[in-house]
Amino acid sequence: MPPVIDLIPCLRDNYAVLVHDPASGTTLLVDAPEEAPVAAALRRRGWTLTHILITHHHHDHVTGLMALKDETGALVLGPAEEADRIAGLDRTLEDGDVVEIGPWTVDAIRTPGHTLGHLCYHLPSIGLAFTGDTLFALGCGRVFEGTLDAMWGSLDRLKTVLPPETIIYCGHEYTLSNARFAVSMDPGNTALQARATTIAAAREAGRPTLPTTMADELATNPFLRADDPALATAVGMAGAAPAAVFAHLRRRKDAA
Ligand SMILES: [Zn+2]
Repeated sequence: MPPVIDLIPCLRDNYAVLVHDPASGTTLLVDAPEEAPVAAALRRRGWTLTHILITHHHHDHVTGLMALKDETGALVLGPAEEADRIAGLDRTLEDGDVVEIGPWTVDAIRTPGHTLGHLCYHLPSIGLAFTGDTLFALGCGRVFEGTLDAMWGSLDRLKTVLPPETIIYCGHEYTLSNARFAVSMDPGNTALQARATTIAAAREAGRPTLPTTMADELATNPFLRADDPALATAVGMAGAAPAAVFAHLRRRKDAA
């Protein structure tokens, strides 16, 4: 039975995601930006929260954690490397850990860069991945704790690990501004132009731009395409190493 997914806008531009398995009743929350919208979604759906997965320690991903845990008794899992900065973790996960959550197998993928211990989560049996603040729709997270080289390595790893058909949820609704930046860097990319139009229409109508897919990101996300000679040429860096192209893009976006 396919899962039922509820994408919940929180705070100014964050998302929490609920994944529910109707057969077992398993209900997984990925990140807890705040308590009230998640609790309201659980009530509306009639679901009981059983598990919480945390991608990284930033406050806009964990502020609702303790209240939701207290209300529901959900088991909380998150990055071992950030356990000292995330209150309420019941189980810590490291790169390569595989954990059973209800009917699903969850693979933990360490993606340093935005934070040092950031984990992405892949649920291969249902073709779903949660990329937190590492990979965004048409963008990537700011590099706060790791190096630009490490962040490129993290994105490159996601390209290797996640099949193109993977459905991806990330931590923020940044897609419209990401699209504007992507088009400015990669103006000759027709797939990107078409996607930017669709995204603008979705935001105009107040709809989320998530989920995305790995295939769409591979075709249109400049940060994932730092190793594509066409993109290197588009930004005036033909022949440069992918990590150097990535660093250039990230610095330009930081200054945008
Ligand atoms: Zn963050």
